Amino acid sequence: MTRSIETFRHALDAIDSDLLDRLAERQQVVDLIGLIKRTHRQSIRDEHREEHQRTRLRQLAERNGLGADAADGLLDAILDQSRQRQSEGPPQGALKVAIQGQPDSWSALSLAHHLGEVSQPVHCATFREALSALRSERAQLALVPVHNSTIGTVRPAAELVTAPDLVTLAELAFPVHHCLATVAPVALSDISHVHSQPPALHQCTNRLAQLGVTCVDEADTAAAADVVRTLADPTHAVLCSPQAAERRGLVIIERNLNDHPENATTWTLLARRPAPSRPWRLSARFGRPDHVVSIGEVRVGGSETVVMAGPCSVESEKQLRTAATAVKAAGARVLRGGAFKPRTSPWSFQGLGEPALELLATVGAELGLPVVTEVMQPDRVAMVCEYADVLQIGARSMQNTPLLRAVGRVDKPILLKRGASATLDEWLGAADYILAEGNDNVILCERGIRTFSRATRNTLDLSVIPVLRERTHLPILIDPSHAVGVARWIPDMAVAAVAAGAHGLIVEVHPEPSEALSDGAQALTPEGFDAMMARVRAVTQAMR
Ligand code: PEP
Ligand code: MN
Repeated sequence: MTRSIETFRHALDAIDSDLLDRLAERQQVVDLIGLIKRTHRQSIRDEHREEHQRTRLRQLAERNGLGADAADGLLDAILDQSRQRQSEGPPQGALKVAIQGQPDSWSALSLAHHLGEVSQPVHCATFREALSALRSERAQLALVPVHNSTIGTVRPAAELVTAPDLVTLAELAFPVHHCLATVAPVALSDISHVHSQPPALHQCTNRLAQLGVTCVDEADTAAAADVVRTLADPTHAVLCSPQAAERRGLVIIERNLNDHPENATTWTLLARRPAPSRPWRLSARFGRPDHVVSIGEVRVGGSETVVMAGPCSVESEKQLRTAATAVKAAGARVLRGGAFKPRTSPWSFQGLGEPALELLATVGAELGLPVVTEVMQPDRVAMVCEYADVLQIGARSMQNTPLLRAVGRVDKPILLKRGASATLDEWLGAADYILAEGNDNVILCERGIRTFSRATRNTLDLSVIPVLRERTHLPILIDPSHAVGVARWIPDMAVAAVAAGAHGLIVEVHPEPSEALSDGAQALTPEGFDAMMARVRAVTQAMR
């Protein structure tokens, strides 16, 4: 089979996985409709609706070149599966839906309107809490307001709902007509304070300004009604739903005082995203161009072969400065050096710790080289960030998920090394942990894997380069030093990596390899590194 067929088949596999993921999302909506049908004793099959779907899909399929017959076949398969699913159905009983707010808050009313008898609210104090109720399976769904016709985006809810582990099943609009209520009949001019949730107050800005009242922020509109009832002071009014006022025995002084009489809010109905058919999705290429990670002026992922170099461990100021000066002169763009070392034996040199970070920052700044160094513990991420430009996650830490999440929350690029026995799925799954926290700047680094071969320290998996180039948009670096473990074999593998399409290299260089406190056998001398760089430049040139 020719290589191009293989390549295109991989592309198809990725698309098919995505189709299945989308169908799993569809199934969640199908289950919801099934529950509503059963609760209302409606028949599962609706031939009128099916006809409508068929016409619509045939039209779409004609337009995008699939052809109407293909649409028929697909729809038959999907409808069959949906009908079967709805007749078997998930367990009967009301769905727990997490909402922010008390009974009679606008979220509670919207839920009652849209999902009435099939739902049971799980009341939460904040949007964040509502989403954590969903994530921790205390609720099956969450209903969160994201947009309002008067004030626009509802913050912070709108930002929270885009998390990759959640999926939007539907967007549901509901009219929001606020009323002003107090504990006893009172003249409008006697009201001095109005309690409510900030977005609600915002929706009534004009009227509240006319009344010249002081606004008091509360957790939600119904909670505000409770506060006003407890205060029992008729000069303190609440802005809430008429239901919240009436059920608390409050007197409605004015209705519909929102700035726009047609005020309406849109809620997002969220579910947990079904587990994807592969453990990674954010690092998937999905047709995206190569992602270029910027480290200061240095761009990793473009046409330049970026070389990072320096000693395995920072041992002294002199050692680091000598190594750094040499690698810079030879063309390295980033300085490496370990401060915290993940050694096999606790009796071996463990790194100098924070003093090494200080030296890296000083020498790096002196030479104009950004620095990369390993962080091993979540509680040291902030400290390492103070000194480093790139944080390295070492091979041994690749599946330390709290560490991955912690570095996902910083605004520095991450060099993610492949675990010594990690599969591609596990490695990209680890990258997803970082990306899922919002850090897009992940550089993958292959550093040799454990195989039966004892010829070299590890086996450099060069074949992973073309595979990664196809499956992910993230840049790929090769670490021939830890892969090969013997200095004189490293340059050959470095040039091979560049020829295979790596975006760069990370290489260990020591001014006196025989004196090194760690990984001396694999350290290039400054001269050896310089010679390697000449070959790397030649291959980069030839590859253009
Ligand atoms: C290192 O880069 O110094 C290191 C320890 O690498 P790895 O995690 O790949 O073994
Ligand atoms: Mn090392």
